[in-house]
Amino acid sequence: MDRIVMKFGGTSVATLERIRNVVARVKRETEAGNEVAVVVSAMAGVTNQLVEWCQNLSPLHDAREYDTVVSTGEQVTTGLLAIALQEAGVDARSWQGWQIPVRTDPAHGKARIEAIQGAELVRRMRSGQVAVVAGFQGIGADNRITTLGRGGSDTSAVALAAALRADRCDIYTDVDGVYTTDPRIVAKARKLSKIAYEEMLELASVGAKVLQTRSVELAMKERVRVQVLSSFADLPGTLVVDEDEIVEKEIVTGIAYTRDDAKVTVRRVPDRPGIAAAVFGALAAEHVNVDMIVQNIAADGTTDMTFTVAQADLPRARAALDRAQTQIGFAEILTDPDVAKISVVGVGMRSHPGVANTMFRTLAERGINIQVISTSEIKVSVLIAAEYTELAVRALHTAYGLDGT
Ligand code: ADP
Ligand code: ASP
Ligand code: MG
Repeated sequence: MDRIVMKFGGTSVATLERIRNVVARVKRETEAGNEVAVVVSAMAGVTNQLVEWCQNLSPLHDAREYDTVVSTGEQVTTGLLAIALQEAGVDARSWQGWQIPVRTDPAHGKARIEAIQGAELVRRMRSGQVAVVAGFQGIGADNRITTLGRGGSDTSAVALAAALRADRCDIYTDVDGVYTTDPRIVAKARKLSKIAYEEMLELASVGAKVLQTRSVELAMKERVRVQVLSSFADLPGTLVVDEDEIVEKEIVTGIAYTRDDAKVTVRRVPDRPGIAAAVFGALAAEHVNVDMIVQNIAADGTTDMTFTVAQADLPRARAALDRAQTQIGFAEILTDPDVAKISVVGVGMRSHPGVANTMFRTLAERGINIQVISTSEIKVSVLIAAEYTELAVRALHTAYGLDGT
């Protein structure tokens, strides 16, 4: 008998028919004698709509009220699934983040889970009741609802699995595993039977949204056994494992892309000590994360600084920099949301030189200009014009020998 956390994403609960499909999967586990907690997302499209409403009313809306609004999608799904389970003869009860409670830090809109009180859930699961838990949400120290950032239900599931000391955390989604790249844009993408935590972490952090980055971070830290699998087909999925469990290490394991970033260029910044601290300090004070950064050398005592931020943070970033303009003393800010970040990831890179060069050459052969470059031990990322995203990902997938048949 195992204790399992099963997580179902938006597409997997998009309609009542799909919710009934979830019931069948849950029932299979309970009938096998397992204790089950289910974490659900909002029905597909719902969170996008809620976010759009907030942005429409006010681009610089209060993050606490944003959380009040966008957390509601998950509440609906928990209730619906609990009703559907009960209808099928399965004892079930819904739980919102505040009811468990799932305690988070106060960073509204991108809160981190700090603690989950699992005792009551465990007591009920032991007596055969399925816990249907709202993903994506928690409660801050001020007793207000928080949300964990887009895709955060994955993190809710892994955190719950850790808190409940579950034997497994199964992430059911609309693809049947983790692929060498997004199978929706590269038909020749290959499913990986296993992927190392570190690679999955890096892929997630550069845009492979199949798992939220923090969920992988947490799984790695808390040693949660995570599996990604299809909610529609009975196929083996992808296990996230320790690096030494992977026998055949590829140089490049996967390629990811994101169009969610925007490029910001601060023009003619005085070239003196403390300037980077002033620019990025102003952004940090507004909780804006900065990703790729380049700074040029200039002859006339000023320089240009280019960096990327999440597109959703662009209004906040602009406002923060505008406020600091006289203090920092730059000439103007240019922004470009039509960019894509393409990244190649693989633990094999540690021991194989030339990975970056293959990337640059492949893009050059397609006439794709590289705007910014950043690297880590197991990753190379480039920023390019968004219109070339698919072309770049496909070309790189072939260039690194990842194409399946
Ligand atoms: P859910 O709603 O179940 O959380 P998501 O949309 O968040 O699902 O994540 C699944 C999607 O991730 C897939 O539909 C796929 O398009 C995308 N994806 C991106 N990169 C990959 C990858 N390397 N392997 C699998 N899926 C990927
Ligand atoms: N519903 C939330 C989102 O769309 C959380 C999730 O699905 O993981 O981002
Ligand atoms: Mg997701």
